[in-house]
Amino acid sequence: MTTKNFGKEMAKLRKGKTFIELYGKKKAKEIGKKISKKVSKRQKGKTWEESWGEESANNAKKKLSKRSSNQKNMLGKNHSEKTKKLFSEQRKGSKNPSWKGGKSKEGYSWNFRKISKEIRERDNYQCKLCKRYIKTQTKKEFLTAHHIDYNKLNNSYSNLITLCSKCNSIVNFSREEWEIYFNKIMVDSNDN
Ligand SMILES: [Zn+2]
Repeated sequence: MTTKNFGKEMAKLRKGKTFIELYGKKKAKEIGKKISKKVSKRQKGKTWEESWGEESANNAKKKLSKRSSNQKNMLGKNHSEKTKKLFSEQRKGSKNPSWKGGKSKEGYSWNFRKISKEIRERDNYQCKLCKRYIKTQTKKEFLTAHHIDYNKLNNSYSNLITLCSKCNSIVNFSREEWEIYFNKIMVDSNDN
């Protein structure tokens, strides 16, 4: 089972509802823990090679290291055509005309509100955990840029992923496992 299918399966099971809506807060946390366990079971004490197979692991490593060295250029000129196409497809339906091959991002300032908005746009206003699309932000329900490594100072694009407010409250436990899980999603999303 790939992580991608795993996410899809979870979304199907929940019929677009969040864990909390379906099960209440306490149960939702338990389920979140179970999911984390499932992810970590593949990972725990194992190398990426053992977990995912050598080819996939090497790919993942390559992508991650490339991304971290390119992190400031995530919106810059260094995109491959493939990545550009991916971003452009992700952007479809969003009202973001400002992405001109990244040129407008030169002199970028590390302002989290701005970054967070760009992450939402990049992820096409979709929570990457429950897969729901939230275009209108309300107090009750909003999208947020989640720090994959839980380091709020690490605002590199490869470290940020869009989550809805409800899912974001679930990922505050079993942090290590979620970190692995979201990193895998990021790697997969660049593999298309
Ligand atoms: Zn969500």
